[in-house]
Amino acid sequence: MNNRGILTIVSGFSGVGKGTLINKLLMKYDNYALSVSATTRGMRPGEQEGKSYFFMSVEEFENKINNNELLEYAKYVDNYYGTPRKYVEEMLESGKDVLLEIEIQGARQVKKLMPEALTIFVMPPSAETLKQRLIGRNTESSDVIDERLKRATVEAQGIEEYDCILVNDDLDKSVEKLNDIIQASHNQSFRNINFIKKIREDVNVFSEGE
Ligand code: 5GP
Repeated sequence: MNNRGILTIVSGFSGVGKGTLINKLLMKYDNYALSVSATTRGMRPGEQEGKSYFFMSVEEFENKINNNELLEYAKYVDNYYGTPRKYVEEMLESGKDVLLEIEIQGARQVKKLMPEALTIFVMPPSAETLKQRLIGRNTESSDVIDERLKRATVEAQGIEEYDCILVNDDLDKSVEKLNDIIQASHNQSFRNINFIKKIREDVNVFSEGE
């Protein structure tokens, strides 16, 4: 009936383990495509251009905004982050289930444009685990960690806007739960946008000639 993929937005506090969760999902199943975001933040050790992010200057990023190349974008702790539109559209059209790992302002923009998108908020088992993970990751200075923890208090206000909450207490189980949630949503007809469009056109026939 419709082979278009599901667009899934995965958000969650910095340090909750979204990246690890998504990478495991991608390794285990081949029906997913991860959108690589553009960002103006500096590269962290171990990150790769075009794989972790497309790293760019503020000027390059603002050009992409002006050329309407981004599906959404937001500022997060002093840096721009955005989703290149073309890849997402092509992958969805080819039937892949596309994952966006983005924060809440971007999630709201996408949900407005594509109400059929599935939104998942990944939670830590406790606030303390979050802090320990951020410190243990050793990728940010203590000032940036403080900023990110502060940001969590703002993001926590928007959790109810998400379709599902996933508590990341056990990585392997969380990967399975994430896959189950996304695959189950293929059966939700309100996400089946091509089907909705077709039925809408078909029922229009009833009003023709009036
Ligand atoms: P990080 O600097 O830790 O890689 O990412 C910081 C935050 O930006 C995370 O919450 C991440 O989900 C979010 N983020 C990454 N890419 C995008 C994007 O393309 N758009 C938006 N709105 N947020 C993003």
